[in-house]
Order: sequence, then C-alpha cells, then structure tokens
Amino acid sequence: MNDKDREFYTQHIRERLSDYRFKHSVNVSKEAVRLAIKYGGDVEKAELAGLLHDVMKDAGKKEQLALIEKYGVRLNEVEQNAPKLWHAIAGAVYVRKVLKIRDKDIVNAVRYHTTARAGMSLLEKIVYIADYTSEERDYKGVEKMRKAANVSLEYAMEEALAFGIEARAEDHTAIHPDTFEAYNEIMLAKKNKG
Ligand code: FE
Ligand code: FE
Repeated sequence: MNDKDREFYTQHIRERLSDYRFKHSVNVSKEAVRLAIKYGGDVEKAELAGLLHDVMKDAGKKEQLALIEKYGVRLNEVEQNAPKLWHAIAGAVYVRKVLKIRDKDIVNAVRYHTTARAGMSLLEKIVYIADYTSEERDYKGVEKMRKAANVSLEYAMEEALAFGIEARAEDHTAIHPDTFEAYNEIMLAKKNKG
C-alpha cells in the first residue's frame, strides 16, 4: 500500500473506531503483513484487510443492521441471533459498497474474519489468524496461538477454530454453520493425511 492510501484508510478507521479498536486494527494489520510475508500471501492486501476488518465494529447494532439490510444481505437464523457477527457482515458490505474496494478477496477476508468458512483463501486465513495473534491480545491461550501461527497457517487455523468452538460451547451459544464447515474441513483433511 502506498503512503497516501495507508494514511487515507488509517484516518478512515480512526474516525470510526474507539481508541482500543483502532489500536487493535493497526496491530492486526501489522500481524497480517508479518504472516503474509511468512506464508507467501499478498502483503498489500493483508495490510489493507487487517486495517479494515473491524471497520464497523463500533458502529452500533442499528447502523450495522441498516447497512446489511440496505444492500439486501439476508441473515440466517444464527446470524439473526448473534449481533456479534454483524460487524463482519456489515464490514464487508461497507468495504465493497462505501469504500468501493472491488477486490473480492479483501471483502471476503473482512466477511469471514469472525466465523471462518470452508475453502478460505490464504488472505482470509491470514486475517483470521492475525485477529487472534495481534500484539495487544492477552486472552488465556494467546501464547499457544502465537506459537501455532509460527508453525503453520493450517495448524493455527486448527487451534483457532477449536478454541473458538470450545469457547462458544462453554457459553452455550450457537455456533455458525460456516465455523463448523471450516472446522470439519481442516480436521478431515488432517485425518486423510494420516
Ligand atoms: Fe471483528
Ligand atoms: Fe478484530
């Protein structure tokens, strides 16, 4: 990303996010760049997708839902009942329709950064993992996740999906079908490899 674009998008999220979320987004962007270099991803796209992944996070549920409805995105039953997922769906719409970023891979990296999905691209995985391993993260288990991210992206996905599903089951909250599909894809591929 050139300096002008970096400045534009950084300023853009600065105006839309809390201090905490802004810092998080910059850190996810940095971590996504690091992972892109390590795993042969597109560094520029990783930087931008990381910066924008939570662009709608602090917008409020009403604004998120309004954007989702405005562009005719239908929410499934799990999504309707999980407002935490709306920022990713609204974020993808925002990136595509408001910021007019036409790159599908960037839009999808924002869209699937919370649920994951089967058949994720390299960029989608990079952003998904960077969101777990960014510098300011300090949840219980983050060190294990950072280690996994340095072993391989596949192994990090395995750890992150298992971690996410466990946490939701622990809370007795619904799990998105895309998350199950991502999880099953990885675990079955691993089994078939022996
Ligand atoms: Fe998020
Ligand atoms: Fe995030």
